[in-house]
Amino acid sequence: MPQELLIQVTPEIASNDSLLKDFISKKSHIPFAELQHIVILKRSIDARQKAIKINLKVAVYTKGELFQENKIELPDYPSVVNAQEVIVVGAGPAGLFAALQLVELGLKPIVVERGKDVKGRRRDLKAINRDHIVNEDSNYCFGEGGAGTYSDGKLYTRSKKRGDVTRILELLVAFGATPDILVEAHPHIGTNKLPQIIQDIREKIIACGGKVLFETRVTDILTKNNEIEGIVTQAGETILANKLILATGHSARDVFELLDRKKIFIEAKAFALGVRAEHPQSLIDQIQYNCDFRGELLPPAPYSIVKQVGGRGMYSFCMCPGGVIAPCATSPGEVVTNGWSPSKRDQATANSGIVIELKLEDFKPFEKFGALAGMEFQKSIEQKAWHLAGESQKVPAQRMIDFVQNKVSSEIPKTSYVPGTTSVEMGQVFPGFLSQILREGFSEFGKSMKGYLTNEAILHAPESRTSSPVRIPRDGLTLEHLQIKGLYPCGEGAGYAGGIISAAIDGEKCALMIAKSLNKQ
Ligand SMILES: Cc1cc2nc3c(=O)[nH]c(=O)nc-3n(C[C@H](O)[C@H](O)[C@H](O)COP(=O)(O)OP(=O)(O)OC[C@H]3O[C@@H](n4cnc5c(N)ncnc54)[C@H](O)[C@@H]3O)c2cc1C
Repeated sequence: MPQELLIQVTPEIASNDSLLKDFISKKSHIPFAELQHIVILKRSIDARQKAIKINLKVAVYTKGELFQENKIELPDYPSVVNAQEVIVVGAGPAGLFAALQLVELGLKPIVVERGKDVKGRRRDLKAINRDHIVNEDSNYCFGEGGAGTYSDGKLYTRSKKRGDVTRILELLVAFGATPDILVEAHPHIGTNKLPQIIQDIREKIIACGGKVLFETRVTDILTKNNEIEGIVTQAGETILANKLILATGHSARDVFELLDRKKIFIEAKAFALGVRAEHPQSLIDQIQYNCDFRGELLPPAPYSIVKQVGGRGMYSFCMCPGGVIAPCATSPGEVVTNGWSPSKRDQATANSGIVIELKLEDFKPFEKFGALAGMEFQKSIEQKAWHLAGESQKVPAQRMIDFVQNKVSSEIPKTSYVPGTTSVEMGQVFPGFLSQILREGFSEFGKSMKGYLTNEAILHAPESRTSSPVRIPRDGLTLEHLQIKGLYPCGEGAGYAGGIISAAIDGEKCALMIAKSLNKQ
C-alpha cells in the first residue's frame, strides 16, 4: 500500500519533481533511492501568508510496491437503438449528462436543441462580437454544450456530495479533459478545450443509438390529463414520448412564457445581479500573491470576496483569471455580460461578476407578470443597458472609483469586451438601491483587498444571468414536476443547479429517476 502524505511546499518544490522527491524523502524518512513513484492526489494554493505555499496530498510508492496508473475509462454504454425513448430538451451540461445517463441505463435519449453544434455556434459568436448581431437560437448561452461551452469551464461546485462530483469529473476526463481536474482544488477546463469534449459526448450518444437534433427549438409541450405526451418544434414537427427532461437553462425566456401560458406551475425565484469588473491580471496577482511579479510558478490569481452591505450579500461570481468579458445576450435589444478564460488563463485581464442578492420583494414593480416578475425585472435592466450604451452590443462602462464617486468617466480604455464600451453613469442602469449597495460594496472590497478599488478597474453592466429568475417546482424525491406527470424540470433553468457540475449532476439524477419510474434500475 502506498503511504499517503499531506505536505506543504514552496511553489518551486511543487513544480520540480526532483526537489519534491527530496522533500518527501526527508519528510517521510524514506531514503531517496527507495522512492519509486509519487502521485499527486490533491493540489491547492495557500496564499494567506506572505510566503505562498502549495498544499499537496501525495501517494508515495517505494521500491517493490505495485504501482498501477489509474486509467479512467468510459462506462460500458449499451446500444439503445430499440429502447424506450425519453425526450431531453436542451443540450447543456444538464441535458447532455442526462442523455448519457439514460443511455447507460438502457433508455434512448432524443436530445432536442434550439442552437447549432459547437462548430456552427462559432460563427454566431463572431457575429455578436464583431457585427452586434444576436441570433436568438445560437449565442453564448444557446447551442450545443449550453451556456458552459464557451466559458472558463470552472468545475468547482458547492455540491456536498463528493461522489457525484467525482463521477462527473471522471466522465469529463474519459471524454478528453486533462486528468489534472481530478487533482486541482479549483479545476477548470478552458474555452478552447470544452468544445471537443462536448462534441465527443454527443458522438457517443449517437453511436449508442440516441438522437441529437440541432436547430430544433421546442415551441410547445403536449400534455393530456396532466401527463406528458410529447413536444412540438418550431418546424411544426411533433415528437411523442411520455417522459420529458426539460433542461433549457436560465435564459430560455420563451420556455418560461410557454409554461406560464399553459398554466404549468412555475414560480418566481430570486437571483443575483450586478456588474462585471475587469482589472489588469497583474494587479490581482499583486494583491492575492502579495508580490510585485507573479513569475511562472504560480497560476494567474483568482479572487473570491463576499461582504454584507445594506443587509444583502454582495459577492464575486464566476471569476475568470486571465480571461475575457463576453457579450451574452440571447435576444436583440438587450445587453448581458459574463466571462470566459482559455485553458492557460493567459489573457492580460481578470474579470469577475460582482453581484448583489435580490429578494422577491424587489420584483414588486413587475408583480403583474406573476411568476415571470423576476424575469421581467432582469429583462428591463438588460434593455436599459442596451439603450444607454447606444443600442448595439456595446456595454455601459465606468471606472470603478468614478462609479463609487458618482462621476461619469471621461474616457474608458479598451477592455477585453470586443463589441466595445460606452461611458455611462452606471447608476442609471440599476434601481437606486442596487447602485447604492454596489457603491458601498466596492468601498468595502477596497478595504479587504488593498488595491482592488482603483480606476484601473472597469465596470461593465449588467451581469444579470447569474441563476434562473424562475423555478419549475418538482417533487423532492421523484424529481417529477408537481403537477405534470412525466415532466422532469432539470438543471439551472429549473432552479436546481448553478454551474456546469451541478447541472450535470442534476441531469444524471433526473435520468436515474426516470429509469426508476420505469423499473429500469
Ligand atoms: C460565458 C459564460 C461563462 C460561464 N462560466 C462558467 C464556469 O466557468 N463554470 C461553471 O460552472 N459555470 C459557468 N457558467 C454557467 C454554466 O454555463 C451554466 O450554469 C450551465 O451551463 C447550466 O447548465 P444547464 O444545462 O442547466 O443549462 P444551459 O447550459 O443553459 O443549457 C440549456 C440548453 O437548452 C437549450 N434550449 C433553450 N431553450 C430551448 C428550446 N425552446 N428548445 C430547445 N432547446 C432549448 C439552449 O440552447 C441550451 O443549449 C458560465 C455561463 C456563461 C454564459
